[in-house]
Parts: sequence; C-alpha cells; structure tokens
Amino acid sequence: MAETSNLSGGPGGIKIIPLSEGTFTIDKTKLFVPFDDGIHDLQQRPVGSLLVEIQPFIIITSKDILLLDTGLGFVQKDSGINPSDITKVLLTHLHKDHAGGVSMGTNHQQLSFSNAIFYLQERELNFAFEKGFPSFMPEELEPLKRSGRVVLLKEDEGTIDDYIHYKITGAHSPYHQVFWIKDNDQTIFFGGDDAPQLQQMKHRFVAKYDHDGKKAMELRRSWWEEGQQEKWTFLFYHDVKNPIIEF
Ligand SMILES: [Zn+2]
Repeated sequence: MAETSNLSGGPGGIKIIPLSEGTFTIDKTKLFVPFDDGIHDLQQRPVGSLLVEIQPFIIITSKDILLLDTGLGFVQKDSGINPSDITKVLLTHLHKDHAGGVSMGTNHQQLSFSNAIFYLQERELNFAFEKGFPSFMPEELEPLKRSGRVVLLKEDEGTIDDYIHYKITGAHSPYHQVFWIKDNDQTIFFGGDDAPQLQQMKHRFVAKYDHDGKKAMELRRSWWEEGQQEKWTFLFYHDVKNPIIEF
C-alpha cells in the first residue's frame, strides 16, 4: 500500500490519520469557542482562556479501523474514511471535547458509527451523569447507556481483542483511561488528556484543570521515558503541530 502524506506507518504497518476539528479557546465557563488565528485575537477572549486543538485519531490496524475519542462531533466528515467503516471506538473519558461525537440525530437518540463497538469505563459513564453539564453533555451520552454496541469496562486494567491494552489512571479525571495498541511490532500510545500535548511530555507541568495534576505529571514523565526505550508512537489529542511522535 502506498503511503500518502496524512498517513503514518510503513508498508503493512499501522496507519494513523489525525482528524483535526480546529482550534478553540476554553475558559472557566468550559465552553469551547472556535478560534481562527487570522480573525480572532486571544487578548479579546476572557482572561485565563486556554488555546486548544481538538483532534481524534483513526488507526487502521490489521484487525480494525479504530477511532480514538470522538471530538466535539465533527469527526464524521472529511476523514476519507466512511463512519460506517469504523469497527471500534475507544474512549479515554467522556468530557464533551472527547465524546461529543458518540451520538447523532436532532435529539442525539442514536449512537454514531453504525458498525462500531464502543469501549468505555462504566464508572466514567456513571460519573458523567452524576456531574453533568458543563463538563459533560448527558443528553448526548444517553445512547451509551442502552446500546448493544457498547462495552462498559469494569476493570481498572485489561485487554480488548488481545492487542489493545487499557488502564485507568485517575489523573486527568477519576476514571480516565489510556490505551496501548500493539500490532505489527508497533506500539501506539494514546494518553488522551493525561498526555495531551508534546510540550507537556518534555516539561514537568502540573495542570490546574486535572483531577490529580501531580499524578498526571508523574505519569507523563514515566511514559515518555518508557516510550523512548520501547519505541512507542505517541498520539497527542490537543496538539495539532505534533499529533504523532514516533520513536
Ligand atoms: Zn478532559
């Protein structure tokens, strides 16, 4: 198979397609407001606004077409992959910028990606309904509760289909999980909001918005070290300049 510019991985290897939804600012209202460099001025946004990219990933392995988190819900267009081709959706956590795309229809009554199985933590789902808006969008998450296409993971750690390893970290949010995907001698690491940007891997940094910022910082340090030794490929959900770092 020929390589094209937006695909990563060697012949026969894993293919990675980052799906940028664009740049946004977020402040203490927790609303994501689109931000365009050419039009907008960060100084005009409320004090303390953070600039973030939102970027789910499609991973084509020898067994599946995986989608890692679903963004704010724009993922379904422009990826070159038909939404019905996705076979598994892996969700790190259910904050609205990561799980906004799980459902569709005017009342969000239907799960998206008609042929996919969704994998998420059961305790994260309960937590999302307990906390609700503005961090979570309960009405958009509703179909996750009653679909036969949902696997609610109950263990802190485990394996899906012999090649996808998941583990709860309790760092960015109490039931946030991270994934290692091992296929064709490659290891892809997706740390979601525990490891959102390259910059945070290189510099020690405690984020105020994390549930346990110190733990997240320590985890990033050890993943970065282990990943270099073990030659992982890192995916950064909130980093459009450096979406994929391969060792
Ligand atoms: Zn989050």
